[in-house]
Amino acid sequence: MGPESDSLSGEDRLIARFFAPLARAPGALGLADDAALIAPPPDCELVLKADAIVGGVHFFVADDAGDVARKALRVNLSDLAAKGASPLGFLLSLALPATADEHWLAAFAEGLRADCAHYRCPLLGGDTVRTPGPTTVSVAVIGSVPKGRMVRRAGARPGDLVFVTGTIGDAALGLALRRGATWALDEALSAHLRARYTLPQPRLALIEALRAYASAAMDVSDGLIGDLAKLCRVSGVAAVVRAGRVPLSAAAARAVAADPAALEIVLTGGDDYEVLCTVPPGQADGFRAAAAAAGVAVSDIGTIEPGANVRCLDADGKAILFKRAAYSHF
Ligand SMILES: [Mg+2]
Repeated sequence: MGPESDSLSGEDRLIARFFAPLARAPGALGLADDAALIAPPPDCELVLKADAIVGGVHFFVADDAGDVARKALRVNLSDLAAKGASPLGFLLSLALPATADEHWLAAFAEGLRADCAHYRCPLLGGDTVRTPGPTTVSVAVIGSVPKGRMVRRAGARPGDLVFVTGTIGDAALGLALRRGATWALDEALSAHLRARYTLPQPRLALIEALRAYASAAMDVSDGLIGDLAKLCRVSGVAAVVRAGRVPLSAAAARAVAADPAALEIVLTGGDDYEVLCTVPPGQADGFRAAAAAAGVAVSDIGTIEPGANVRCLDADGKAILFKRAAYSHF
C-alpha cells in the first residue's frame, strides 16, 4: 500500500467516499452545500442534543472503529429516547489523529451506516478535522416531539414511582473488567458486560409510553444514583431507592455476589444509557403495559418524596452510603 492510500488527501474526497452515502435525506443536500435543511413534522417541536465521545475517555483507542461510530450516535439517541423524541437526523464533527487511516475510516463509516439505517437517523452534515489529540466524535442529534410533549427532568412529584429500563450497572462493570477487575465470571458473562460498555442500546421503543405516562425522565449516563439526584434537584423533590429492586443482569448479579463492593459500581458507575423516569402512581400500570407492548423491560426501584437528595436503602432498610454518586468529568 502506497503512502497515498495511507493518508487522507483531501477532505472533500473523504466526505464523498465515506459520508455522502450516509446522507441520503433530502435535507442533507448530498453534503454538497454549506448547511442542511430540515422541516419539523407538522405540529411538532425540535429536540436538540449534542454529546461527544473521546478516545481514552469514553472508548478505548484500540476499539473497533465501527463500534466507536455507533456508540457516538447511540449515546445521543439515548437522550432523545428519554425525552420522548423521534430522531430526524444528526450532525457529525470528527477530530482525527494522523493514525486514523482509510481502513479506520471505512470501518467507522460502515458502523455508522448500519445504525443510521437501523434507527432511521440520517447524517445531515458535519465537519472533519485533524487533531494532535485523541479521536473525538461529536454528534448533534435532532429529534421531534408533538408540541409541548417533551418529557422533562423537572416534572417529578412526591408519590411518583421511579422506574428504570433494562438492567443497571453492566457497562460500568464491563469497563472495570477491561481495566483488570475480576469477579470469577465465565467468558459469556464477561463478554455480556464488556458489550454493554461498548454498545449502548437506546430505548427509542419507549418514547410513546414515556410521553403518555412519565412525569419526568432522563437517560442514565453518569450513574443511576447521581443522575436521579440531578432529576430530583430540578424537580424540587427527594427520592428513595431500594437497592434490592434495581434490576441486574445475571452477570452483574454474579459480580455483586462475588464482591459486594461491586454494588457501588453498579449503582453509581454510569454508561448505562437506560431510561430513568418517574410515573404518577395511578399511571404505573398503564406505563408497565405500554412498556411491555413496546418490548422494553421496566422496573420500579423506588419512590419520589418531598424534600431533597436521594437515599438508597438496602434490604434491611439501612441507608447505603457511596464514595461518589456519579461520574463527573470535572
Ligand atoms: Mg442524558
